[in-house]
Amino acid sequence: MIPFNKPYCSGRELKYIEEVCHSTTMSGNGQFTKKCHTFFEEKYGFKKCLLATSGTDALEMCAMLCNLKPGDEVIVPSYTFVSTALAFLREGAKVVFADSSAENPNMEVEQIEPLINEKTKVIAVVHYAGVACDMDAIMALAEKHNLLVVEDAAHCIDSFYKGRPLGSIGHLGAFSFHETKNISSGEGGMCVINDERFVRRAEIIWEKGTNRAEFYRGMVNKYGWVDMGSSFLPSEFNAAYLWAQLEQLDDIQDKRKHIWNRYFEGLNGKIGNEVKLPNIPEYATNNAHMFYLLCPSLEYRTALMKFLKENDVQTTFHYLPLHSSKFYENKHDGRELPNCDRYADTLVRLPLFYELSDMEIDKIVKLIVEFCNK
Ligand SMILES: *Cc1c(COP(=O)(O)O)cnc(C)c1O
Repeated sequence: MIPFNKPYCSGRELKYIEEVCHSTTMSGNGQFTKKCHTFFEEKYGFKKCLLATSGTDALEMCAMLCNLKPGDEVIVPSYTFVSTALAFLREGAKVVFADSSAENPNMEVEQIEPLINEKTKVIAVVHYAGVACDMDAIMALAEKHNLLVVEDAAHCIDSFYKGRPLGSIGHLGAFSFHETKNISSGEGGMCVINDERFVRRAEIIWEKGTNRAEFYRGMVNKYGWVDMGSSFLPSEFNAAYLWAQLEQLDDIQDKRKHIWNRYFEGLNGKIGNEVKLPNIPEYATNNAHMFYLLCPSLEYRTALMKFLKENDVQTTFHYLPLHSSKFYENKHDGRELPNCDRYADTLVRLPLFYELSDMEIDKIVKLIVEFCNK
């Protein structure tokens, strides 16, 4: 069976984890955490980075920094992972779900603007599959209504919007290093703070509501409890694993792009007009986080996935709409979100991982071409 995903270990991970075993810091914010922060701050110009124990935790840090009050509203796409919504819900905000664009699973201003009222405080955008939302338009809308923008950049490492790194455009951003993402530490994430106003508080929230980070820098002579917070920082073991992966980022990205392009070239023009390939807007780059197909119907997708499984290829569909989830359907305002429902029913993701071979890709392509022309 060709699996849908296979976590990749580049080789240095064990060496760095061993270094942590022999060092004096195994908890958080040690030398490997600092290496990772500096890497992102230097390579992508993020103002301030803080590793987190997961993408979910990074989103929760963002939500805490938004300083929401009960009754405040946050606009979130329905076609996303639970955590994008949950982070804000936990802060007592009301989550208002927006539909996706007809072009791709991202939100556009068209879906967002009608939902804005005087209670709206935040727009949380998701760059699906690492492909950017139209951020100029969304930032202009946010500025017009005095809203914060949080980028759920869980899929987005090394991807860009008009040359600007995703995660650096909104006021705050959240990355994930879950094993299914391009770069992984098993579980892991990172909160990115682009707006200077949030930097100090972010460090405090990260360190259980204490000003320990300032203490270590010698800025205060004792540290104590100064604000809300939690234990968001990962241990040095996770950071060591992540650092080994970051050292291999270019190699990992080259390999993933090779796989993505081989799928695209193999399928483009050979599968008729019913099944659609991903479309990448001109302003966005493709970081090869995901290769997906859009089927004409749920029945078609079910049959295609079954056919591939019978031929030893594991594929998956993706998000179930959050607005009609068991937990949220009674809280949702009843609006239909047809594009979201369509992606939930028709999107299928193909295997994409570092060790996937050309032979395996060609086998998958051949099977899909055969199915689509039946
Ligand atoms: C993976 C993912 C998350 C959550 O990240 P974890 O590291 O698994 O907590 C959040 N949002 C999106 C869009 C994701 O794909």
